[in-house]
Amino acid sequence: MDVSIIGSGYVGTTAAACFADYGHDVVNVDIDEDIVASINAGESPVHEPGLDELIAEHAGDRLRATTDYAAVRETDVTFLAVGTPSREDGSIDTSIVEAATESLGAALDSKEGKHLVVVKSTVVPGTTDELVAPTLAEAGDLTIGEDVHVAVNPEFLQMGTAVENFRNPHKVVFGTQNGDEWALDTLRELFEPIVDSADPAVVETGLREGEMIKYANNAYLASKVSLINDIGNVCKEFDVDAYEVADAIGLDPRIGSRFLRSGLGWGGSCFPKDVAAIIAAAKSQGYEPPLLEAAVEVNDLQPRRLLELLAARVDLEGVRIAVLGLSFKPGTDDVRGTRSLPVVEGLLARGAHVVAYDPVATEKFRETHPSLDVEYVDSAAAALEDADGCAVVTDWDEFAALDAEFDAMARPVVVDGRHVVERREGLEYEGLTW
Ligand code: NAD
Repeated sequence: MDVSIIGSGYVGTTAAACFADYGHDVVNVDIDEDIVASINAGESPVHEPGLDELIAEHAGDRLRATTDYAAVRETDVTFLAVGTPSREDGSIDTSIVEAATESLGAALDSKEGKHLVVVKSTVVPGTTDELVAPTLAEAGDLTIGEDVHVAVNPEFLQMGTAVENFRNPHKVVFGTQNGDEWALDTLRELFEPIVDSADPAVVETGLREGEMIKYANNAYLASKVSLINDIGNVCKEFDVDAYEVADAIGLDPRIGSRFLRSGLGWGGSCFPKDVAAIIAAAKSQGYEPPLLEAAVEVNDLQPRRLLELLAARVDLEGVRIAVLGLSFKPGTDDVRGTRSLPVVEGLLARGAHVVAYDPVATEKFRETHPSLDVEYVDSAAAALEDADGCAVVTDWDEFAALDAEFDAMARPVVVDGRHVVERREGLEYEGLTW
């Protein structure tokens, strides 16, 4: 099939490269000329394992990029994969979706034959039929359901494993208007190679249900982590190891063993944004979701718990504290929503001299938070040297292997927020929930 994808970030580029690899002809449309040039030069504009290779293989052949929306007229189906950031109040900012939809509608104005527009961006229920469809209709003088059909196909990939997740999804969701058979047939044909090879569940549902499934998925996972963190905090009060408890409860198939690692909480570009967005959307309808609000509250509490554990052992004023890890999870340099920020801010507020180390995320963190008075170093050993305490924030593998490096500390107080440090002997060690 001929496919166009609007937006070439993590989602749009991964989808484009993978669809090209499955034999479709794909064009990426992005307003950023550098991104377009990068794809056409055979290089991925985002860092994801395996993506460079796929783009190098298909660029100039089944994959190309352009800033010109006219390219969509040569395609059968267009995915919208632009960003949906948070506003101050947590609600999603749909202005990028709206702008891209206007450009798309205008470009489709002069297209012969039917076209399918698929919303892949994460949007709250009602966005596709109340914003995308009318905007398309108006911008291109198009009749929805005749000239243009709309559908949703939320994306569940995770950063760091985007290609692998796209190729082997646990489910693909097709949301359509009133079971629109033409839209469904188009989506089935497009996804046939993935469905044939990976055998995911195929969920055919309504537009709003499709939009909501994405939020429910992320809200559930975030809440599961917050629940085990809440339980973990109770465990700590009773001197109980929350990891032993989690291992046991995870044996119950109704609970399952994944997402039961208690600690500093969740971050990244999706969980905080999506949980905030669905809470704000619920409130806009007059419903305040207490459990989802509590999930956020527990997540905000965890860095404070870590700081309290550290402060109980070390007077933080004027002393050197090592912070190990700045990225929101291992394997990425992404610092959006990272729990390291409240830890660093809390330490600075208590007068500590913060010495931070991360294997890959230091530059991003420094650039994002230029006003923070932090000393950045290029190894865990350098961070620990002469430190009076240490906060372990990200579960990078290399922190598990730390050993003699702790001996260089002025005082070996280690508060581990991720259950990653293996050495315990000779340390004043505190686990966050164990
Ligand atoms: P991103 O910010 O990395 O990429 C968005 C791209 O859209 C950018 O390259 C930008 O230049 C481009 N763009 C902006 N305005 C445009 C316009 N008018 N026309 C064409 N291109 C335009 O975003 P992302 O991380 O790929 O996320 C996209 C969507 O997918 C979001 O709704 C996000 O919530 C959702 N999502 C993201 C992930 C993830 O892990 N990143 C996972 C699942 C779902």
